Amino acid sequence: MKKEINGKTKIIGIMGKNVENSLSPFMHNRMLSKYSLNFCYLPFKIREADLERAIQGIRTLNIKGVNITFPYKERVVEFLDQVEETARRVGAVNTIVHHKGILTGYNTDLIGFKKSLQKNGKFTIKGEKAVILGAGGAARAVIYSLLEEGIKEVYIFNRTIEKAEKIKQDFYSFFPQSDIQIFNLKKEELKDKIQQSHLLVNTTPLGMSPQMDITPLPEEGLFYPDLLVYDLIYHPSKTLFLKQAEKAGAKIINGLPMLIYQGLESFYLWTGIKLEGKEEVEMIERITKDCQEAEKKGEKR
Ligand code: NAP
Repeated sequence: MKKEINGKTKIIGIMGKNVENSLSPFMHNRMLSKYSLNFCYLPFKIREADLERAIQGIRTLNIKGVNITFPYKERVVEFLDQVEETARRVGAVNTIVHHKGILTGYNTDLIGFKKSLQKNGKFTIKGEKAVILGAGGAARAVIYSLLEEGIKEVYIFNRTIEKAEKIKQDFYSFFPQSDIQIFNLKKEELKDKIQQSHLLVNTTPLGMSPQMDITPLPEEGLFYPDLLVYDLIYHPSKTLFLKQAEKAGAKIINGLPMLIYQGLESFYLWTGIKLEGKEEVEMIERITKDCQEAEKKGEKR
């Protein structure tokens, strides 16, 4: 159905450094059409130096809300009027709601990651161990949800040790029983820690389109058959990291289920429409199929 833009159309969208390959405009505009809502979801490519002005622009231009993506989820917190309790604890915001001049930050990545694991990984987190690659905004949501679900040990491997240390420090007050260990991304402990873990999550952008020939783990022989390997990247749908894991017999999940589940939650925050049960399942199947078909055709989304 062709969307008619008029004087009452409400604007929502996504702000990030590289939004050209984001599936969020594709997904949200499909959901808005399905419910015949007079909204339009747009991509906003924002330079780092303009982030604060862009966030103020939400109020100025009466934009109803935005998603925040790579690499601004942590920095954006300081520019908001208020931050919902869980997002404040996580220290990262991926959804902003604008209501009567007040900008409120939320983190729907948390529920997106949790649901995607429950529905696709068939994985019990309680008492398990996980290796997390990266320590940015998305890693914060991933680690926080694993701790909430009772994971036993989390091994963070990151290029900048201080960022991983800060996560450990921040989360310790909420999860005093947590065992978070920090390593440099290049350290030889990686192999050992992956062998001890049931879950390996890539939260770095390494391997994301257009740089599809790189991987956060260039070394051979790190994956094993019972490991669940999760890449938050969804474009391409199978990164080099996931291809190598699959070749070694590991079970793999890409970032599309998380994107959809976090998107459904953001959609609810902006429109008040919550997809549940059969409706949620149908929407997920439809978006997944549309995205896969679009990728096969090489369509620009
Ligand atoms: P971010 O806050 O900028 O964090 C990026 C992390 O990756 C940092 O830890 C950074 O390390 C590391 N990194 C970046 N470039 C690197 C390099 N060349 N070598 C080694 N490490 C590098 O970004 P984010 O918001 O967490 O997003 C990260 C990725 O997750 C993006 O690809 C994003 O699209 C994806 N994501 C997907 C979903 C989904 O729904 N599927 C949701 C959220 C995020 P330093 O700390 O050393 O800088």
